[in-house]
Amino acid sequence: MAETVVIIGAGYAGIGTAHKLLKYTKPKVKQLKVILVSPTTHHYWNIAAVRGILPGEFADSDLFHPIEPGFEHYSTNNFEFMLGAATGIDPTTNSVYVTVATDIKTITYTHLVIATGSSYPGRLPFTTVGTYEDSINALHYLQSNVRNAKSIIIAGGGPTGVETAGELGYAYGDSKQITLIIEGDKPLPFLRPEVGKTAALELERLQVKIVRGLRVTSVDDTGDKTSITLSDGKTIAADIYLPLYGMRPNSSFLPGQLMDDRGNLKLDRTLRATGLKNVWGAGDVGNVEAKQLIYAERQALHLADNLDAVLTGNPENVKKLKPTATPQVFVTIGKKKGTGQYNWIKVPSLVVNAAKGKTLFTEKASGLVAGRNIVRSSI
Ligand SMILES: Cc1cc2nc3c(=O)[nH]c(=O)nc-3n(C[C@H](O)[C@H](O)[C@H](O)COP(=O)(O)OP(=O)(O)OC[C@H]3O[C@@H](n4cnc5c(N)ncnc54)[C@H](O)[C@@H]3O)c2cc1C
Repeated sequence: MAETVVIIGAGYAGIGTAHKLLKYTKPKVKQLKVILVSPTTHHYWNIAAVRGILPGEFADSDLFHPIEPGFEHYSTNNFEFMLGAATGIDPTTNSVYVTVATDIKTITYTHLVIATGSSYPGRLPFTTVGTYEDSINALHYLQSNVRNAKSIIIAGGGPTGVETAGELGYAYGDSKQITLIIEGDKPLPFLRPEVGKTAALELERLQVKIVRGLRVTSVDDTGDKTSITLSDGKTIAADIYLPLYGMRPNSSFLPGQLMDDRGNLKLDRTLRATGLKNVWGAGDVGNVEAKQLIYAERQALHLADNLDAVLTGNPENVKKLKPTATPQVFVTIGKKKGTGQYNWIKVPSLVVNAAKGKTLFTEKASGLVAGRNIVRSSI
């Protein structure tokens, strides 16, 4: 029987799932067709954006990789890349609506995978921001602003805020004013206190000024500088303001009943959309685990196995994913230092630096689009 698996979103999870299905399931299900829907022709290795926003650190070709050539060796009977954005789905008719150029196309699926990830409300180039051209132009614009800025304010004490402040401090701590605004008394509040303490110490060594215990309440960027009002009523200004908090799932095209109150796609432990047999999800868009690549990777591999079970007529082999209960986070602080937590253990700077700090895993990006690996795991 012809089986059409439509995957919405060609990020880490979407590309990984597509390759795994084509590699392992297609030989068993000859009439399998995978359609990968993506608004961007290129994958963006966004976990390196924390360093990539600094001019001259990475070539564009280290960060952006064309997706379609990685699938060229599959027959067009089995794979199609559709350049467009999903604007809606109708599970009652098994349909996805996709805007392709100025047309809206309707695609019918036997199984649908939602892997549209998440992004910052401000649409900063820390994730894709539309087409490849939109993302690369936004990145170049920010790089040039970073080069010219004398002052940069970052809001958000999570890993992305800390890593960005660390990169900026490492490169420009003695020539630009770098400020990090955090709500609590130390960064990385969801990790062990000593991890946040180390992060603060290392950032301050790089001359990053940490403003503690305050939130940004309003932003005015109508003048030369961006003016930021804080929860104590005071106002500070900078040439660049980077609000790196409040990641939201890219789920606005989904019917409301499929989402939780934060807009996450509600998934059961088999990674099926709650209440639907043939709609699945993986990665940041879902509500299963924290929004981290290591979990998106694991979910994509698990989902491909579950789809394999269903598509080959072995639904009894569909397995439940056991969500990770403890943090597994490596946070770089500039090119030489880092901190983190693995389960309950604080990770030494040396380990973070050796595993991640030197390259931010950019050497893995060509393997992702070619179907060899996601990040740590092979496909
Ligand atoms: C700056 C930064 C650094 C990070 N560093 C780390 C790290 O070091 N370690 C870690 O574990 N995690 C890290 N993360 C988190 C990590 O990036 C995410 O967990 C990961 O990208 C999730 O993968 P995904 O495939 O679910 O989504 P994404 O990689 O976001 O991919 C989703 C894709 O869906 C597409 N899409 C969106 N809407 C639509 C639509 N309507 N139709 C079709 N396609 C659509 C987008 O174009 C995008 O390409 C970082 C995040 C950021 C922002």
